[in-house]
Amino acid sequence: MPSLEKHMEISRKRTGKTYRGVHEWMNQPGFRENRHDITRVLEIAEMFTAQYGKEAAQEYVQHLADDMKSMFGSIARQTNAAIHEKLIYFGAEKE
Ligand SMILES: [Zn+2]
Repeated sequence: MPSLEKHMEISRKRTGKTYRGVHEWMNQPGFRENRHDITRVLEIAEMFTAQYGKEAAQEYVQHLADDMKSMFGSIARQTNAAIHEKLIYFGAEKE
């Protein structure tokens, strides 16, 4: 998943602000899994809207989306490499 610095850089490109507080809150040790729980998205977005405004809530949602893109992209690369390796084993693909 993107580092804190990467999340802030992405937010700055999107909004002109880093939204460090949003990203630090998301990645606080001991709370990360609970705060990345997609079933809590409405509750947490409402919390950020009340505290910092709608743009902060949108950056929270984008944080989740960027994490998903990174995580599933990594899984896809690993899966594709494993498939390629097995196809080579069977001679169905060449290196
Ligand atoms: Zn995250």
